[in-house]
Amino acid sequence: MNMKVKIKSALLAVLLVFSSLSICACGKGGKAEKYTEYIFDYFDTVTTVTGYAENKSEFDKVVETLSTKMKEYHRLFDIYNDYKGVNNIKTLNDKAHGEGNAVEVDISVIELLEFSKEMHALTGGKVNIALGSVTALWHSYRVSAEDGEGEVPSESELLSASEHCDINDVVILKDENKVYFTDPALKLDVGATAKGFATEKLARMLESEGISGYVLSLGGNVRTVGRSPDGEKWNVGVESPDGEETYPALLALEREALVTSGSYRRFYVSDGVNYHHIIDPATLFPSDRYKSVSVVCNDASLGDALSTALFNMSLDEGRKLVSNFEGVGVLWIKNDGNMETTALFDKYSVKN
Ligand code: AMP
Ligand code: MG
Repeated sequence: MNMKVKIKSALLAVLLVFSSLSICACGKGGKAEKYTEYIFDYFDTVTTVTGYAENKSEFDKVVETLSTKMKEYHRLFDIYNDYKGVNNIKTLNDKAHGEGNAVEVDISVIELLEFSKEMHALTGGKVNIALGSVTALWHSYRVSAEDGEGEVPSESELLSASEHCDINDVVILKDENKVYFTDPALKLDVGATAKGFATEKLARMLESEGISGYVLSLGGNVRTVGRSPDGEKWNVGVESPDGEETYPALLALEREALVTSGSYRRFYVSDGVNYHHIIDPATLFPSDRYKSVSVVCNDASLGDALSTALFNMSLDEGRKLVSNFEGVGVLWIKNDGNMETTALFDKYSVKN
């Protein structure tokens, strides 16, 4: 993302998250003020941290702690870059070919992979981190598009890539913190789960340190960490897929995640058709059902995995899937702009 786009997204993010309170609120120890900071360096997106603190330096300390941890997750979950002394997802893709080449990784990587495998099983494979050979192909065509116009991969290219996407070929040796692939051509792409996973970890880090009255937003992954010092919930808007400055929905949140997958986030055009970044494993093409799917629940990792999976399912399939989970609300924005929601999503909604 270039700096101009980053700043534009950051400004949009300001509009996305706001408290219903004005600038000041009275905390236990005196006046708490609301601050916002942007972090541009990680997960190829803009992170917004908004929170109440006694003063700016206290807030800056929280941001610094979050930023340090984010940097660690960013490096561990990176599929494109190597970092000296770090075994990350790219290291696995490059080297974990067969049991004899099992690679030792950080426990966070093991946890992310285990969680992602579990979500593959729970969603009938609609979110599949082993789809990397296919998503890499789409990615290479997308980045070689000029002025947003490009070519589409051929069916034979897609089909041969799809032969290396079996999640069961990813073997986790839990006791040794090692991972290997039984299919050496398999590639992991954790784009659908890593941001939510990191968001949840960061939020829990704040909670474990007794910090409250914060909202984190990593790209489309929002997590609220407690009410404002005055006891107000956060009003969090769902981003308009059409780039409008109004919200299709506004939710009042306290300790929840709101995660959105959208076809408008990363795409290019070929012959007048929009090719975005969320690939339906059944067709190997971008799923064309919705503009966006938003999930509200109490865990950003779950929200991230589910929003991607639901994006690749019909409404009926999606409603059935969601009914298997407790406390998960969904908003589907269809291609014609009409919206569908579950009852739980409506419960969180406030008048807009
Ligand atoms: P999200 O924005 O969370 O829906 O994740 C989309 C990203 O996940 C894409 O940019 C790809 O890197 C990757 N991806 C695309 N389709 C899938 C899929 N069906 N399962 C898992 N990851 C996917
Ligand atoms: Mg996702």
